[in-house]
Amino acid sequence: MKEEKILIIIKPDAIVRGLIGEVFTRFERKGFKIIGTKMIELGDILLDEHYAHLKDKPFFAGIKKFMTASPVMLIAASGVNASAAGRLIAGQTAGHEADAGTIRGDLSMSIQSNIVHVSDTTENGELEVARFFNEEELHTYKRADEVMIYSDVHEDF
Ligand code: ADP
Repeated sequence: MKEEKILIIIKPDAIVRGLIGEVFTRFERKGFKIIGTKMIELGDILLDEHYAHLKDKPFFAGIKKFMTASPVMLIAASGVNASAAGRLIAGQTAGHEADAGTIRGDLSMSIQSNIVHVSDTTENGELEVARFFNEEELHTYKRADEVMIYSDVHEDF
């Protein structure tokens, strides 16, 4: 089991629907440590990099329009197996297909407007956090409940 960093983006649909707190809460309650946050307006260059894997898709222009419709909230978070666990919390891409109990499953019906981005692999987590945050914007602290959250790593619980 390995500590990883992930990037979470609270997308414009969630921002304008007043769901910032809801998204933070779900990651915090699961046990993720929030290590950096900021609200920004995404520009062309960052979006081209972040969604490079989709640049030939017919919906690429639509995603860029959507992702610039309002500011977004960027969250850097850490946890053991964070990318795999984070993707489970987010749910499948299309809200109407995502499992109930997931963020997308509970809060969205759309493929495009699906509330959050969550890094999908260990490598992408590292890369995406580094793309959006400087070292000085990332913080180190211990959660008081860490030993309980990871009781299979810490044998006291
Ligand atoms: P995920 O966000 O689940 O990792 P992708 O990397 O495939 O999914 O897609 C990135 C984002 O692009 C999605 O979260 C969604 O906002 C948008 N998207 C993906 N597929 C479509 C589609 N067919 N039509 C419109 N938007 C899409």
